[in-house]
Parts: sequence; structure tokens; C-alpha cells
Amino acid sequence: MPEMHATSMFHNETKSRFRVPEPFSSHFGIPAFSASFDYVIVGGGTAGLTVARRLAADPSVSVAVIEAGDFAAFPNGNLSQVPAYASYFTGNDPIMKNPYLDWLMYTEHQPQLDGKPRLYDSSKVIAGSSARNFLWQIRGTAGCFQKWANEVDNHSYTFENMLSFFRRSYAYTPPQNAERPENSSAGYVAEHWDSSGSPLKVSYVSQLMRSPQLLLVTGVGSEETINKINVSLVADRLGVRQNLWDNMLVGPTFEVDIITHSSLQNPSYLAQSIQEYSKRRNGILTNSGGDIAAFEKFSTGMVSTPTLEA
Ligand SMILES: Cc1cc2nc3c(=O)[nH]c(=O)nc-3n(C[C@H](O)[C@H](O)[C@H](O)COP(=O)(O)OP(=O)(O)OC[C@H]3O[C@@H](n4cnc5c(N)ncnc54)[C@H](O)[C@@H]3O)c2cc1C
Repeated sequence: MPEMHATSMFHNETKSRFRVPEPFSSHFGIPAFSASFDYVIVGGGTAGLTVARRLAADPSVSVAVIEAGDFAAFPNGNLSQVPAYASYFTGNDPIMKNPYLDWLMYTEHQPQLDGKPRLYDSSKVIAGSSARNFLWQIRGTAGCFQKWANEVDNHSYTFENMLSFFRRSYAYTPPQNAERPENSSAGYVAEHWDSSGSPLKVSYVSQLMRSPQLLLVTGVGSEETINKINVSLVADRLGVRQNLWDNMLVGPTFEVDIITHSSLQNPSYLAQSIQEYSKRRNGILTNSGGDIAAFEKFSTGMVSTPTLEA
């Protein structure tokens, strides 16, 4: 288990068994104060905080969140505030590493990628990986949710059933197309969004790496693996740490005739952008770098059938 040095809590004043003397806030655990809660959530990331918030909406329960990392602004300073810097510490450059921000997990050696291991970004801060996100909001497709519903034989996972939760999870601000470059307007289906939702994000990834790790160190997993790490077996579960599916992000590069982040290499444009951001909170530094998208048609045979169906 990692050292825990930040603990935040959602709790109900009347029912909580956690008492702190005034004027301390009850939103943070205090070392050496014992406390008990109805729910304890390990990991204060996108999914953990969302679940905690929803649970704490019930005034009769108390909820604690245990997070291994710190506030993003402490290990990442200004880079945690300016959208254009979102991609810092996400690549393979050995100089650009931030062990206070990221768990620094690596893949196995990848034969298709120079045979080298690759950084598998995973944030270690309050708000989790969303603390560093690129401001991209991408819902799964209706087909993708249907596949999920079919595989677990549970109709509640269909897109139609999830839509009310999507709408509730965002306070949506429509794109200001007048401010955007020509031919780069953002389209959306108005009835799928709600400007009065709460500012929360829900994720379906759910710390896919560290949840299995937590299960293993508490003795839940295949007996063979548990024996290797010298932990007492609590439940022999062959499925733990198996069958990981995750999406790859591949960034092909094309020369284009519009202003992109490459223009920031020009010192005078960079100086102008810093002025715009500092004085008016506009300009290219408000852009995380993935703001302008284009679609390219794959030729037949380049996409697998399951991907096409989803
Ligand atoms: C750089 C970057 C940019 C991204 N940009 C986008 C984007 O623009 N749009 C988008 O939709 N998605 C984006 N993602 C993906 C998105 O952030 C994740 O899918 C999402 O945050 C996953 O949520 P989660 O709750 O599963 O895990 P996380 O948000 O990563 O939260 C897990 C939390 O648990 C903590 N934790 C883990 N193990 C323990 C332990 N044993 N004890 C205590 N705490 C523990 C971690 O420190 C972390 O804070 C981005 C991810 C990264 C890394």
C-alpha cells in the first residue's frame, strides 16, 4: 500500500462519528484522530469523488475518501492551471517525469513501439487523472453501451438509460462558435445536455490498474499470484488483474494551414499568448491542444469488426 498523506471527507454534521474541535474543517482527516464512517472510498479520483458525492447526498450517512496524492497545484504548480500545459509529464521523455503527480507505471516492452516500455499515465492527486485532463468530453457511442448491456445481460447499461446520468453529471456550457476558428464549429445534440447538472465527471475506467492492485494486496485474486506476493489469501478469484482492455491514443501528425500549438515556438506569439491568458483568460493557452479535430476515413480492413460494431 502507498503511504497515504491526504485524506478528504464528505460528511454529515449530525450523523457523523467524526468529531473535530472548532475551528477545524471536517473536510480533512487529522492524523491521530480516530474516526469511523459508513462508507470509505479508496482513491479520490474521477470515479471515487463522484461516488462519494452521490453517497454524501444522503444526510443519514458519513463518507470518507482516502487519496494517496496531494492537491494537483502542489506538485504541478502553474502547469495545473493553464489548459495548454495539460500534456506535461505524459510522454516518454525521461527528463519530464513528475513522481509526485503520477504513479509512473509502465507497460511491458512493446514490440510495435521500438520494443520499449511506454509510460501508462495515471495521476496520483486529488481529482485523479481528471486533475490533468485535456478538457475533452467524449461519451461512448450508443452501440458501445449496447455491447456492454448485452455482455452483462443488464439493460440498465444502454445509452438511453445512461443518458439521464450523463445529463446530471455536467453543468454544460455550449461552445462559443463565434470565438472559434472558421470551419471549426462544434456541434452537439442540445437535448443530450443540461446546463444545470452538477460539475462532476463520471468515468467508466475506474482506476483499472490500481483497483486490482488493491484487491491483490488485501488477498483477493488468484491463489498463485497472492502466494507470490506473500499475502494471506482471502478469496481465490481468477478474474482479478486479467483481461484488461484499454484504448490507445495515437497522434498522427499532419501539416495544416491554421494556428496550432506549434506556433507557440515563435517567441513573439508565445509572449502575446501569455499576455492574452494572464490579462483576459483567452487565446491559445486556454486550449489544451486537442481542440480542433478532423475525421479521416479508414480504408477497408483497417478497423476490426468489434470496433466497427461498437
Ligand atoms: C493526462 C491525462 C489527460 C486526460 N484527459 C482526458 C480528457 O480530456 N477527457 C477525458 O474524458 N478523459 C481524460 N483522461 C482520462 C480520465 O482522466 C480518466 O479516464 C479518469 O480520470 C479515470 O477515473 P478513475 O476514477 O478511474 O481514476 P483516476 O481519476 O485516475 O483516480 C484514481 C485515484 O485513486 C488514487 N489511488 C490509486 N490507488 C490508491 C491507493 N491504493 N490508495 C489511495 N489512493 C489511491 C489515485 O492517486 C487517483 O487519485 C485523461 C487522463 C490523463 C492521465
